[in-house]
Amino acid sequence: MITDTLKRFVGKLFGQQPPAMRRIGSSKHGIDRRNVSRHAIKVCEVLQHEGFQAYIVGGAVRDLIVGLEPKDFDVATNATPEQIRPLFRRARIIGRRFQLVHVVFGQEIIETSTFRAPASESQATDDHGRILRDNEFGTHAQDAARRDFTINALYYNPTTQEVIDYHNGVEDLKARSIKMIGDPRTRYREDPVRMLRAVRFAVKLKGTIHPDTRAPLQSMAELIENVPASRLFDEMLKLLTCGHAMDCLQQLRQDGLHQGILPLLDVVLEQPGGEEFIELALERTDHRIRSGKTVSPSFLFAALLWHQVDLRWKKRIQAGTPSIQALMDAADSVLDEQTEKLAIQKRFSADMREIWFMQPRFEKRLPKSIWRMFEQPRFRASVDFLQLRAAAHQFDSVLAQWWMDLANADDAGRAAMLEELSRLPKETSTTAARSRSRRRRRSPTTGGEHTDNPVAPE
Ligand code: ATP
Ligand code: MG
Repeated sequence: MITDTLKRFVGKLFGQQPPAMRRIGSSKHGIDRRNVSRHAIKVCEVLQHEGFQAYIVGGAVRDLIVGLEPKDFDVATNATPEQIRPLFRRARIIGRRFQLVHVVFGQEIIETSTFRAPASESQATDDHGRILRDNEFGTHAQDAARRDFTINALYYNPTTQEVIDYHNGVEDLKARSIKMIGDPRTRYREDPVRMLRAVRFAVKLKGTIHPDTRAPLQSMAELIENVPASRLFDEMLKLLTCGHAMDCLQQLRQDGLHQGILPLLDVVLEQPGGEEFIELALERTDHRIRSGKTVSPSFLFAALLWHQVDLRWKKRIQAGTPSIQALMDAADSVLDEQTEKLAIQKRFSADMREIWFMQPRFEKRLPKSIWRMFEQPRFRASVDFLQLRAAAHQFDSVLAQWWMDLANADDAGRAAMLEELSRLPKETSTTAARSRSRRRRRSPTTGGEHTDNPVAPE
């Protein structure tokens, strides 16, 4: 604390040295303009035509330089939201504290924000130094300084095709080094989520966290507990859907950052059986993301927490609670524990419950109730979830495949399958499954991957 105050005092005394700015040409940074969103280019051109500075910034520039496809494009400018909005046909100002503009082009939204000043001592922080408000407009250099890592503070001007680099970000990016701008400890204190971001970017870029940026992680990990649950949820979701979820979780554990993120995750990962299920779920998620498909957060969290639900479900049944009630109680107790820490929004937890509660209904194949199951909005996701359980040897894989075939079939196909089912003598689900063992079997690990929509997007 004292050293921070001292540093700030010295900084004030001698004036903050503006960092050396570099202009990097396209032969060096290697961005191919054809890979840049034409809408983002348009936003920059319109603003520049009005005499403003405007750049594509952040994750998009980083991803373009390393040859990844950016998720979205953000623009930074010295125009204020009030100046930006009238320049575009469809644009709206969003945000209360720090306003920015969403410029809308059909499906694509270009988030356009005004250069922002970095944290200063006048800024409101909580007792741990976490920034509570961050809402002053600033200069281009200040905007670069308030960003988290050097690789995220790069500005691409589509007109000149130059990258403006204040913090040596292009070199760090080429070296795949995740390096914090400024003093890492102060920056983590301002916003502990940056610790999780460091890990995510290191894994995503197949790089390493710079030693100075990495050193404080373990000792500062507990600050993550002060982060509002909704923010933690968003960051956790980004981590789980970055296409390298398993690697990220392993890295988080190595860096001592896993505790307090998903409270049950530690317990689950340490229990026999728990790890296997999560690994399978995350492998499939990674596979989907990398092949450009969507993943629903409800499905993902339903999978992450399933082992706990399953354990508590079985325990309650053993204690004499009827199966369905036991499952509901188990789900409630797991969700209650999680939502304290991680704001799993209501709409997600409702979907998670639906996915879980559908599971016992797959055990018995009763044609009448199957027609009702089709009507459930989460039927498809629940069948996918069943594939996961089958792959983890928790459910008969042949029967799971029957459900998958049923979910994939059109109405006529479903009717035929149910007709066939009703001709079978009444038998338990497992014997039914055994009698159908001539059906084409899929390997448990690939079962369900053939479908185009195993996890419905939100
Ligand atoms: P992703 O690929 O996950 O979208 P990103 O770098 O674009 O990665 P965003 O969360 O979309 O991440 O943020 C956009 C930019 O805003 C970042 O590149 C970074 O410059 C800045 N930024 C985001 N979060 C923080 C933070 N916690 N502290 C400082 N700067 C941040
Ligand atoms: Mg982004």
